[in-house]
Amino acid sequence: MIVLKTRREIEIMREAGRISAMALKLAGQAVQPGVSTAEIDKVAADYIKSQGATAAFLNYNGFPATACISVNNEVIHGIPDKKHILREGDIVSIDLGAVYNGFYGDNAYTFYCGKVSPEAERLCNTTREALYVGLTKAVAGNRLGDVGAAIEQYCVSRGYGVVRDYTGHGVGTHLHEDPSIPNYGKPGKGTRLLPGMTVAIEPMITEGTETVNVLKNGWTVVTADGKLSAHFEHSVAITDGECLILTQC
Ligand code: MG
Repeated sequence: MIVLKTRREIEIMREAGRISAMALKLAGQAVQPGVSTAEIDKVAADYIKSQGATAAFLNYNGFPATACISVNNEVIHGIPDKKHILREGDIVSIDLGAVYNGFYGDNAYTFYCGKVSPEAERLCNTTREALYVGLTKAVAGNRLGDVGAAIEQYCVSRGYGVVRDYTGHGVGTHLHEDPSIPNYGKPGKGTRLLPGMTVAIEPMITEGTETVNVLKNGWTVVTADGKLSAHFEHSVAITDGECLILTQC
């Protein structure tokens, strides 16, 4: 069931989104060679706490940290670890959210650890651009297939894989609400977007195959071919005009 939000609820979600976005920004600033992914997680955790909010992912289905930190061939759901030390050239996808006054924010960004290869940079740029291409289609009256098809076309035409096993989602009083938002689809198909819908759009794009596996820890999703993956996400509210990005600071 899709729950439409009132103007007042969307205002609260903007605050949850602001906290989520600032936590992500600070975590990203901590990304550098020699730093562990656990240290980065702590930066985000401390900020969320300082704002009187709670970490959306911590203990969600048993997830043990504030942020999902996925490095290089890891697509999503990487678990922060004090033994995982970042190295020059890594690409580091950080996904995190905050709960404020009962509402969730959710966002992700792939950061560079020092200087990365031109190939890594191209993948990250394309994935970030694909998110914004999707957002331009996220307007009332369009359908979810319009969003997914735009993201898919943008990435596939540049030679990349679009992960199909995981999708974006509605967001609100729960981290994951209806509808699911695939990063692929057919224009004109799928659920119609309505003002008051709040959704997280999150392309997960791969350098090679779109096939992914889950590691033995039960969480970390990796590319089947070991090639790089990037992930960008915003939570947005659908309006009559352009969508309103909730996760900004
Ligand atoms: Mg999400």
